[in-house]
Amino acid sequence: MFDTAIIGAGPSGSQCAYLLARQGHKVAVLEKKPTAGTKQSCTGIIGKECRGLLPPGVDGITAEFNSASFFSPSGIILHVEKPTPQASFIDRKRFDNQMALAAQEAGAEYIFDAATETIEITGRKVIIGASKNGNSISIEAKSVVVASGFNPKFTRMLGLGQIEYSATGWQTEVDTNGMLEAEVYFGKNVAPGFFAWLVPFSPGRAKLGLLSRNGGAALLQTFWSDMYSRGKVTSPITETYHGAVPLKPLAKTYNDRVLVVGDAAGQVKPTTGGGIYYGLLCSTIAAACLHEAIARDDFSSKMLKKYQDEWHKKLYAELKVTYLARRAFQKLSDKQIDNIFETVSSKSIHEELLSEEDFSFDWHGKLILKALKYPSLWNPLGLLAYQIRHFHKQPYYSP
Ligand SMILES: Cc1cc2nc3c(=O)[nH]c(=O)nc-3n(C[C@H](O)[C@H](O)[C@H](O)COP(=O)(O)OP(=O)(O)OC[C@H]3O[C@@H](n4cnc5c(N)ncnc54)[C@H](O)[C@@H]3O)c2cc1C
Repeated sequence: MFDTAIIGAGPSGSQCAYLLARQGHKVAVLEKKPTAGTKQSCTGIIGKECRGLLPPGVDGITAEFNSASFFSPSGIILHVEKPTPQASFIDRKRFDNQMALAAQEAGAEYIFDAATETIEITGRKVIIGASKNGNSISIEAKSVVVASGFNPKFTRMLGLGQIEYSATGWQTEVDTNGMLEAEVYFGKNVAPGFFAWLVPFSPGRAKLGLLSRNGGAALLQTFWSDMYSRGKVTSPITETYHGAVPLKPLAKTYNDRVLVVGDAAGQVKPTTGGGIYYGLLCSTIAAACLHEAIARDDFSSKMLKKYQDEWHKKLYAELKVTYLARRAFQKLSDKQIDNIFETVSSKSIHEELLSEEDFSFDWHGKLILKALKYPSLWNPLGLLAYQIRHFHKQPYYSP
């Protein structure tokens, strides 16, 4: 019997597999695809803190960024720049494969082409039913980690409910005029309530994409036309990819013999939809909790609650503030967004925020709360700023 079976060979699943296998535990990873690294919809930007969590030998990095430009609906540009790289672009195919290889070398057993269909928790074990090349297979383990990305199927099956709030990311790859830094665009014609991006990842090539709750395919076409007519993009759209992005975590991420990590648990930055770092962070916590559970042979819900307590310590306040900021931002009109850009740029607020100790590609909560202390921003943000400042009074999870 395996100590732990992990559903999904994405970054979160492989991180957990690597850390457990490295400590001598018997780990199986079931992946429905023939290999790891098939998530083509992901842009692949990670901050520098994320790199510190990776197993040795994993990088997959093809470009680094120390600057970006943000465009308001009417075209006001905010340029932000730091002396050193703040973020890196990873090739997800290479990255996920390297992560899976690191876990395999540490001793984890990967079963590819194995789509999990059922997870049954009994008093003594977990029984996982999967379909492999048309045949039914069954895996038994003492515990299971659901790392299967954003999909309510397993969390519902396990009595953990489902993520309440999400968007969809749409993306394509294009030739460019040789742009060197990431560009981010706002406005209701571009990506209502969210943003669109053009991110160079190799000389002359960029990812063009956007987040939206509705109509993403048509918005992507419109955004591409705009970038093409401005000469920034020089090739047509060939293939598009899309994927759901959870923007709020599951209220409960553990149960008897079960932990849920990564996108499956909604451990994603609500501001940007980036989930690789928080997924790795929480999988690292999950592995530490399971290590203890295996040593004590105690997989009770009471024991595994430690996982949620620990990841909440790190992320709960951050996710709550940034979720409220996201919901507030979605209510802003183009004029209000322009006003914010105008105020920030005329008073160089972005320069001040950039030089703050708390500035980070991965942690936005403290910076948002700091930005709200600028009286000049109260007017453009109005009631929404008030709501975010008083976030602790706001409900986060539904009762
Ligand atoms: C357009 C777009 C752009 C993005 N850009 C970024 C970015 O720049 N930076 C960032 O940090 N994040 C980004 N994200 C989010 C990022 O892709 C996810 O947060 C990240 O992939 C989550 O990793 P994970 O391991 O939790 O899940 P996933 O990467 O989704 O991996 C889940 C794995 O489980 C497998 N699986 C699913 N169901 C089953 C089953 N039944 N049986 C077996 N296996 C199964 C899947 O095949 C997959 O391999 C983006 C997302 C989108 C949609």
